[in-house]
Amino acid sequence: MSDNAKPRKKLAIVSCMDTRLVNFLSERLGIGPGDAKVIKNAGNIITDDTLRSLVVAIYLLDVNKIMIVGHTDCGMKSVDIEDIKNKMIERGANPYFTPNLEQWIGKIDSEEDNVIKGTDLIKNHPAIPKDIEVKGYILDIVTGNLKQLC
Ligand SMILES: [Zn+2]
Repeated sequence: MSDNAKPRKKLAIVSCMDTRLVNFLSERLGIGPGDAKVIKNAGNIITDDTLRSLVVAIYLLDVNKIMIVGHTDCGMKSVDIEDIKNKMIERGANPYFTPNLEQWIGKIDSEEDNVIKGTDLIKNHPAIPKDIEVKGYILDIVTGNLKQLC
């Protein structure tokens, strides 16, 4: 991979796809273009696909620091699995698709616990080298305050 693909701050950030988090990287963390690899999904959950992107970032793009940034008032805490399931079926999705929809969609119980769990998962994952710095944060969506959790 070209050196241009490598993030200047050797940093990867995993955060939520929440629409309110569009500018927080530049506004709250001073992250500009070229600085960091950013992986977003609903609820900043560490899935196999998140880990795949982190492995590419670490081994090919020289990333040595990972930040997981969750946020207060995350929609994945209040997501209604039955509602999603009903809407999927209404719109023609196969009702037998992904029987464990709760796990697949990734409903979370607590934004903070979700960040701590994700941080532990990365730290203890067999594909992640032990010298990688992994830290978890929660962003208060109202005040903009970023608090380190672990
Ligand atoms: Zn969220």
